[in-house]
Amino acid sequence: TLPKVAWIGLGIMGSPMSENLIKAGYQVTGFTLEQEKLDRLAAAGGGVAGSIAEAVRDADVVVTMVPASPQVEAIAYGPDGILENAKSGALLVDMSSITPQTSVDLAKAAKDKGIRVLDAPVSGGEAGAIEAVLSIMVGGEQADFDEAKPLLEALGKTIVLCGPHGSGQTVKAANQLIVAVNIQACAEAVVFLEKSGVDLKAALDVLNGGLAGSTVLTRKKDNFLGRDFKPGFRIDLHHKDMGIVTDAARNVGAALPVGAVVAQLVASLRAQGDGGLDHSALLRAVERLSGD
Ligand code: NAD
Repeated sequence: TLPKVAWIGLGIMGSPMSENLIKAGYQVTGFTLEQEKLDRLAAAGGGVAGSIAEAVRDADVVVTMVPASPQVEAIAYGPDGILENAKSGALLVDMSSITPQTSVDLAKAAKDKGIRVLDAPVSGGEAGAIEAVLSIMVGGEQADFDEAKPLLEALGKTIVLCGPHGSGQTVKAANQLIVAVNIQACAEAVVFLEKSGVDLKAALDVLNGGLAGSTVLTRKKDNFLGRDFKPGFRIDLHHKDMGIVTDAARNVGAALPVGAVVAQLVASLRAQGDGGLDHSALLRAVERLSGD
């Protein structure tokens, strides 16, 4: 029989991901802060809990998908948290993108309660979550990875154990660096092409067939063409991730000269009130710098 699942955090990613588990036959009980997301889970055939403690009590596997380290700490620790209320022997799979150190500390604290932890952040965006084709980068013990793998296969396509606790988060930080720099390069090309009077759609189509082609260019093309910055992936979250990768790189002595500049552009968008927009809104930063 399939393990019983508790799912904490039903946002842009957590809602479609938990629904994919239900479709795969898992019994899922969810908890999140927005009532409409709980209603959506119930409509999809999931159970709804009134608290984290209630959600995790009978679960064999607890999955968390919340914004950042402070939220993971808030839901894991304390009298009402996962570690106090989940069964001994449960497996906690944190799929949020957080600092590697938070994942390492969580695994250590959980061990004292007999709870095993994997860090398992994802890439592929909302579309990847809906289509269950996410890339899932995992940190933790091999045996726990093997146990979680069938469940992760209901959510993603490329599922890799990267190393010990925190390794999944380190790889995700690298992912976010590459994505931000890639979006920035595409945004600069878009502004350059438009100012040059070239047909943008034709240009992006042919660019995508060559070495400049990328998942970013494919997935974000319509955002660029239509100036549609509905998230998707919010600038606020990418700002968080640029902080994670900048800190982690400094700790190991790796230089990120271009990443540091893009981190500043992401921060400036946020400071100008655009934190709630999709990260393709880096186009706005380039337009402002270009006098538009
Ligand atoms: P979101 O803001 O849409 O959803 C977060 C959810 O967490 C919300 O439903 C909120 O209610 C819940 N939450 C927050 N604090 C909580 C608490 N104390 N108790 C219970 N629930 C709580 O965010 P998202 O876009 O779904 O992203 C979630 C994580 O996944 C982030 O770490 C993000 O960086 C990462 N991620 C996002 C994307 C994307 O494209 N959106 C892609 C890959 C990874």
